[in-house]
Amino acid sequence: MNNKLYGKLIFELSKKGRVGYSLQDNEYGNYEIPASMQRAEEVDLPECDELTVVRHYTNLSNNNFGVDTGFYPLGSCTMKYNPKINEEMAAQSPFQSLHPEQPADTAKGALEMVAMLEHSLCELTGLAHFTFKPYAGAHGELTGLMTIDNYHRSRGDLARKKVIVPDSAHGTNPASAAVCGLEIIEVKSLADGTVDYEDLKRIVAEQGSEISAMMMTNPNTLGLFETRIPEIAALIHDCGGLMYYDGANLNPMLGVCRPGDMGFDVMHINLHKTFSTPHGGGGPGSGPVGVREGLQEFFPVVSPYHGNFSVMMRAYAYILSLGREHVKEVGPLATLNANYIKESLKDVYELPIDGLCCHEFVFDGLKDKSTGVTTMDVAKRLLDYGYHAPTIYFPLLFHESLMVEPTENESKETLDEFIAVMRQIAEEAKTNPDEVKSAPHNTPIGRVDDVLAAKHPVTTWKVLKNERMED
Ligand SMILES: *Cc1c(COP(=O)(O)O)cnc(C)c1O
Repeated sequence: MNNKLYGKLIFELSKKGRVGYSLQDNEYGNYEIPASMQRAEEVDLPECDELTVVRHYTNLSNNNFGVDTGFYPLGSCTMKYNPKINEEMAAQSPFQSLHPEQPADTAKGALEMVAMLEHSLCELTGLAHFTFKPYAGAHGELTGLMTIDNYHRSRGDLARKKVIVPDSAHGTNPASAAVCGLEIIEVKSLADGTVDYEDLKRIVAEQGSEISAMMMTNPNTLGLFETRIPEIAALIHDCGGLMYYDGANLNPMLGVCRPGDMGFDVMHINLHKTFSTPHGGGGPGSGPVGVREGLQEFFPVVSPYHGNFSVMMRAYAYILSLGREHVKEVGPLATLNANYIKESLKDVYELPIDGLCCHEFVFDGLKDKSTGVTTMDVAKRLLDYGYHAPTIYFPLLFHESLMVEPTENESKETLDEFIAVMRQIAEEAKTNPDEVKSAPHNTPIGRVDDVLAAKHPVTTWKVLKNERMED
């Protein structure tokens, strides 16, 4: 991108008097906008010819990176395969033009789809009912915790205001508990990355009568399968608490094992993760919450209508196209791909927890710490090679976390190429560390100041009249 015009804002491309459209004659006659409703000053909109506008936005869109442009190893997000057939199903005009306020008897087909999706999710999770109101995973967590809180209240059990969350949990878990007005108790992880059962026993012995719920992710955020769930569930149930399952990592368990069978009472599913909706940039999402029989009467009202219908449509299309047989292959393939990458790189990247992982795993930076090259540098250098960066500095358990999730549908050639590039970066860290530390070199902008961008984001362009290009 050497053309200077491509880097400019549309306002900077503006030339006074340029137009890219022509309006038809007004066939309704003249209508004077009342003076009280007219702007005092003319609004400063960019004035450009059609080609300039088209090129500007097309070039901007080319700066996007997505699953359709390249490999996307971002962990804890299941930014996965998004079959185009799902898009086609969701884009069908009868579904696209649904209105939430239209009479239910004119939307029976859509409602039937929701019911069939609920049935499929119940089959896949071992739970009895789902509500589709939540708009995302975090919204589902809040909905699930409110459901649990309503349940305890209904029994007059008002002392249960504490939620146990493992120290490896996703940040939304403690955040949702706090929003729900609950107190968070952190349970430690063992050196092998799984929940410390002895620490949990101590917490339950001391505070059992105040425990509302325990939140768990399985496989956890390190990509490790928590093998002691049945014992943990028994411990929590015996003290009167309920088990909450964060379903963001349901992907490797699909059709293989079910949260309901493990002893979980309430869970959310991130349909946009596990069930194939592209969700870069924060949306759209859908976080249906499932419960064991009897708990559905405690669902709170967290939003009107049925949530994001098109995300549900894609999920259902995905489930139907896989079918009962093939849905079982998702988990093993995702697991195989993650382990293949992990084993191929662990001689050059630090693997803090060895052994089998599920769909994702975490490195603790480069093995050779003497080069000064950090996880941030590796992630930035990957951009130069045409990859999206993995998740970095999460989970917080290690200083240099670099979390890779390949997902199930990537070919061996794609994985091999990624492995080769990761090895090459490890080599560059030794032979030419400055090249890695100053990366990226091939992107429109280099390293942004994250803190400045978060604290003082500049999201508008200020019109400086005298700087405007004049004809
Ligand atoms: C993504 C994620 C969440 C939050 O889900 P959103 O849909 O982004 O709100 C919660 N827990 C885990 C483990 C996740 O990966």
